[in-house]
Amino acid sequence: MRAAAVGRARPRKPEPSPAQSAPSSLKAKLAKLGIRREFDLVLHLPLRYEDETRLTPIAEAREGVPVQVEGTVTESRIAYRPRRQLVCRIEDESGSLYMRFLNFYGSQAKALVAGARVRAFGEVRPGFFGAEMIHPRYRMVRAGTPLPEALTPVYPTTAGLPQAALRRLIERALAQCELDETLPREITERLGVPAFRDAIDALHRPRPGDDARALTGRTHPAWRRMKLDELLAQQLSMRLHYRERKSRTAPALKAAGALTAGLLKRLPFRLTRAQSRAWAEIERDLGEAHPMHRLLQGDVGSGKTVVAALAALRTVENGLQAAVMAPTEILAEQHYRKFSEWLAPLGVPLGWLSGGQKKKDRAAAAADIASGATRVAVGTHALFQQGIAFEALGLAIVDEQHRFGVEQRLALRAKGSDSKGSDSKGSDNKGSGSGNARDAEPHQLMMSATPIPRTLSMSYYADLDVSLIDELPPGRKPVTTKLIAAERRDEVLARVRDACRAGRQAYWVCPLIEDNGLADDAPAGEARAAGRRPGRRQAEALQLQNVLDTHARLAAEFAELRVGLVHGRLAAAEKAAVMADFSAGKIQLLVATTVIEVGVDVPNASLMIIEHAERFGLAQLHQLRGRVGRGVADSACILLYQKPLGEIARARLKAIYESGDGFEIARQDLLLRGPGEYLGVRQSGAPLLRFADLERDLDLLETARDLAPQLLRQHPQYAERHLERWLAGKSELMKV
Ligand code: ADP
Ligand code: MG
Repeated sequence: MRAAAVGRARPRKPEPSPAQSAPSSLKAKLAKLGIRREFDLVLHLPLRYEDETRLTPIAEAREGVPVQVEGTVTESRIAYRPRRQLVCRIEDESGSLYMRFLNFYGSQAKALVAGARVRAFGEVRPGFFGAEMIHPRYRMVRAGTPLPEALTPVYPTTAGLPQAALRRLIERALAQCELDETLPREITERLGVPAFRDAIDALHRPRPGDDARALTGRTHPAWRRMKLDELLAQQLSMRLHYRERKSRTAPALKAAGALTAGLLKRLPFRLTRAQSRAWAEIERDLGEAHPMHRLLQGDVGSGKTVVAALAALRTVENGLQAAVMAPTEILAEQHYRKFSEWLAPLGVPLGWLSGGQKKKDRAAAAADIASGATRVAVGTHALFQQGIAFEALGLAIVDEQHRFGVEQRLALRAKGSDSKGSDSKGSDNKGSGSGNARDAEPHQLMMSATPIPRTLSMSYYADLDVSLIDELPPGRKPVTTKLIAAERRDEVLARVRDACRAGRQAYWVCPLIEDNGLADDAPAGEARAAGRRPGRRQAEALQLQNVLDTHARLAAEFAELRVGLVHGRLAAAEKAAVMADFSAGKIQLLVATTVIEVGVDVPNASLMIIEHAERFGLAQLHQLRGRVGRGVADSACILLYQKPLGEIARARLKAIYESGDGFEIARQDLLLRGPGEYLGVRQSGAPLLRFADLERDLDLLETARDLAPQLLRQHPQYAERHLERWLAGKSELMKV
């Protein structure tokens, strides 16, 4: 940042205006703003508005309030200390101030000479020489030059593209582009929103007397029209995407055989009502000859795995293979154990494939998958890498789907159409014979314990079908959550000792140490390793050191207990061995990093200690807390925090303390962080909303959701034009 600013500090010559500059550089700047077509300029809406309709006497300008002043230049010079800058004093009848420019062109210095009259807009601050405006927007005027009658729009822009130039480009686009309606009159009238043309006009060229607050605050009717249009485009594209998927082919897994029935009979428990409902929905989808894309949502511990196992068995009953993919080795390993327990008695051959495996083992596992000897393959994302070919993949189950990247999703979809050994991407839809997996794409069952807030499932996830397990298995007790300051660590140690003496087990989680100091946007799973930032390696080293130290200290403090250690740097086999020992009760206290965050299921563990809880994200805390409360004992989660707490950290801890409900927590998280984190996979695929805010504009989101099918049905040509206007070229990205 700084270096760039210094670099620009001494332009030798005035830069040509963007209109004259090489079109490619202007194009690049516009592209940075997301402007690719002429019409994108029309949709490049102001960030805020400035009131240049009035002049403020210089003496009355209050600090920090943007004002417009007009005065005569009394002095203008180039100073060289502390750095080269143009300093220019102006005065009116009431007083004077300095304008200071750190970046300026020679032509500016020439124009701002004593006697010239200037109108400047900016905020006044106390400066070294007296009151000053730094880098005000200004223009040279003659005495009596009329003031604008309406508010001045200020656009989001980028370095090297001044407001004035951008404004000219937008003016030109407004004159040239067709601003016709994409909504039938009866609809705009019924909804009481202005016509598109009027809304665009009101936003780019506010009328005299228009309300600056409503315009800047985006509550003005013109803004509502734009937000509705944007949300509607999203809904339309989601619906079309959904329809398009329903036109593709997948094997119809209709036959209900002995395997699913056998598992249901052998389970030591009965499915909850919610699990049965979810299974019925999945069963119905799998029986259709179109790819299922279903998200199975259920709070931590709601029992998604057994539903996934039923789906896998249904696939096997129909002569095809199923794959189960988890984002971490630990979780995949655990699924493998659960599936072995359930599938072995039924005689279903299970395979295991992971990145941590020995080359030879992996090759053998891959060969069994390719030959079809393996009917259900469990593993990490290694399952969907190059060179892994299924004999006939009918269903891909993806646990914690939001942790996978877009490439992995693409690779997954392509696996169904693989003929042996080849890794072709394009899915081939010509096959009509259901049951022939080679011509069809696999069904997908995605699972998530991070509940997607309603606003998100109505928008970014609208093309997925969702099953919800909204009930926990019987006998679960709520986990007590305690917030304890780090100084009171001794009390916590006593609790750990008591729990372990009583035959229970405990987790002790060490925090992520972040390179940027924000635990929030930490790439938590192995699958996200792509976005490495500088410093990550160092942060990992620190984190490793921290968890090693903590383990050593706790092992010394609890000489009488067996204290285990698990972290991301351990070899897969070591990790698996530690987890197996913990599962078997051979380890009583497990010191861990967030590698245990998702899915780990050890019912006898009843105490969860999270150190530096203030550094974790809400979803993470909820996941970690979900590791306990799975057995018969009363469970507790202790959040150790370090003072002082920042505002957001405080809000997060309050939210997790006050609620045990994953949906409420997800909603709070969305409020605190915005939708970015949740989108995961979709983030890179779906165009993000620019104007609408899912929470604040919920009413518009609902309107758009209801309007989309109506428009497609009754006015398809309007729908098409609307999509073209708002998403031209961009909806392609969503076909993942
Ligand atoms: P999650 O939805 O978090 O993945 P799991 O599938 O790991 O949850 O299930 C948590 C625990 O609950 C497991 O030990 C599982 O065997 C058990 N379980 C699942 N369904 C039921 C049920 N209907 N009744 C009792 N226990 C169940
Ligand atoms: Mg799970």
